[in-house]
Amino acid sequence: MITNRIVLIFLAACIGVSAQISTPTLFQPQIFDVQHYDATIAFPDPAARTIIADVSIVVRWTSAAPVPTFPFHLRGLLIDSVFVNGAPSTVATFGVDASDTMHHRVTIGRNVVAGNLDTIRVFYHGTMTNEGGTRPWGGVHFQDSVLYAMGVGFKNVYVSSTQHWLACYDHPSDKATFSAQFVVPNTIWVVASVGKEITNRPPGTLDSTIYRWSEDHPTATYLLTFAVAPYKKIELPSDVPHVFYTLARDSAKSAKSYSRVPHMTTLFANTYGAYPFDKVGFCNTVEGSMEHQSMISFKLSIAQSGETQNRTAAHELAHQWFGDCVSPVDYRYAWLTESFATYSESVWLEEILGFSVYLKSISETATAYIKQVSKSEGVFALEDFPRQAPSSNYPQTIYGKGAVVVAMMRAIAGDEPFTQALQGYIQSHRYATAATIDMKNAMRSALGAKTDRFFDEWVTGIGWPQLNINIGQDGSDAKITIHQVQQNLHPTWPIFTSLPLNVVYTRNGFAGIDTLDVVMYCDSTGLIEFNCTELLSVNAGARCRSLVETMRTTSTMDFFEGNTTLVNPSLRAGFALAPNPANDSITLVRSDARSSIIVRIVDMQGSTLHTQTCGANESNCLISTRSLSNGAYNIIVDGGKTPVRLPLNITRGE
Ligand SMILES: [Zn+2]
Repeated sequence: MITNRIVLIFLAACIGVSAQISTPTLFQPQIFDVQHYDATIAFPDPAARTIIADVSIVVRWTSAAPVPTFPFHLRGLLIDSVFVNGAPSTVATFGVDASDTMHHRVTIGRNVVAGNLDTIRVFYHGTMTNEGGTRPWGGVHFQDSVLYAMGVGFKNVYVSSTQHWLACYDHPSDKATFSAQFVVPNTIWVVASVGKEITNRPPGTLDSTIYRWSEDHPTATYLLTFAVAPYKKIELPSDVPHVFYTLARDSAKSAKSYSRVPHMTTLFANTYGAYPFDKVGFCNTVEGSMEHQSMISFKLSIAQSGETQNRTAAHELAHQWFGDCVSPVDYRYAWLTESFATYSESVWLEEILGFSVYLKSISETATAYIKQVSKSEGVFALEDFPRQAPSSNYPQTIYGKGAVVVAMMRAIAGDEPFTQALQGYIQSHRYATAATIDMKNAMRSALGAKTDRFFDEWVTGIGWPQLNINIGQDGSDAKITIHQVQQNLHPTWPIFTSLPLNVVYTRNGFAGIDTLDVVMYCDSTGLIEFNCTELLSVNAGARCRSLVETMRTTSTMDFFEGNTTLVNPSLRAGFALAPNPANDSITLVRSDARSSIIVRIVDMQGSTLHTQTCGANESNCLISTRSLSNGAYNIIVDGGKTPVRLPLNITRGE
């Protein structure tokens, strides 16, 4: 198409360089590196979201170019003028609002060589907007007396949303330092922002106050923010300064909600390395929560709850390491931030409530992903996921599945090597960016030979292991065979050969029956086989939880009457289940119905889901299974000398 070609050549000539700018999901190397943003921003009427801005961008050129242009983003605001090193210049807009790369280019007006510095100054004004839609997130809001900016959008095509208030190269690949003077109309308004507050303020005028902030650590633009409100500041004692901005109305409840944040900071500093910034800051905002660098915009309703466990605060705080100190080079790698922050919520629970609560939270996260998230969002990989509805720029998959995947890395590696690998990752890429390959390389020391397979299966692969468990007979032992059967229904899902599986079983020892609680791994075909006297549980025990689904348990054992050490799960003690697999109900048939018995349905983690009594003389006892989803369970019959375990499978067409 000739016309298009001519237009392209014309555009390339106009912009001086033909390099494309980065998109949210494709980092494109540029010939410049932004060093610093220095902004003077006035909010003449916070409630009206108006802004008058003067932003200087210091750019270092990284290679020679004849008369280059510099691209910057600014959305919904009117550019008044641009200057290069103090001289007026020209600016042109490329793309339309609906484009993910809509941006403006300033003519530099001279040839540059590597190492040259230029200062581009942009004056603009207008009414700040946000990503729009039914529930906007990214961009600027005025709600409940607070004017504030959220750095990313869930639904917009451009993701990084700082361009709704700051002229900047709005892509996480180019981190820069930031300083700002915020001018607000009177003494009521307080401005919270990133970095250190410079208390040496220029004098305001009769009707304005100036707040100065300076973030001296390189920051991804999506992590810059401000919040303007009649805030009250709360400070908590700690080695690192902790400041919390709340409306006076919320300060007592907020102080309670935030009371354990210094403890969280200490925990994560001990786990991931020293806290990377000058302060820990939180400001209450109606929408939230968002991990802006050293000034977290925190969801007001959570701050108002007074709930001190505050998993959300732990999540956002952990982002200061995963996301802020080390940022994704583009948003294909958002899992490097959300999976680790969500995992860190469980680390916080472990700190205050113990390892069993950590395991329980990972288990609940895994179940929620398999039973709910994967059904509502679809099944996809952690890296480079789809963004169209029902997914989004930040799908639940990278939080829930991601957290369990991180927990499995820890289980394979062991605590010490895992912690060292994470600290190495943060240290190697601090104040810079990373991609999946960087995490993979950092994990090699911890995961060893399993590293490549682990990332192929769990990070770029899709799905999860679906297990069939068979209990067969091998002499006087039970022979357990655990197959992965996911490819029967999902041929594109891998066989997971790097799956850590916590199995609990009994075996005859010298001094009687021993109970073993171990992590097992499958062979290259996905199979686990071992002998025992009784299999007690799969993906349960005291070691780890994994992203697996037990589909069916079957038994091909013979009946061993009188052998008290051998449990025959399906045929023992005169009980039978029919039909099995069941749909909405199952009948427990028993040969001896002289007394009443208690029947429980338990899941493969051992949690009781249903209890009922079968009365005396009731030899066919009807048990409702309507509330159970497809999968494998056990029915436990209590009442005799020893409990009897009967495998139950629920299978419904979906
Ligand atoms: Zn997060």
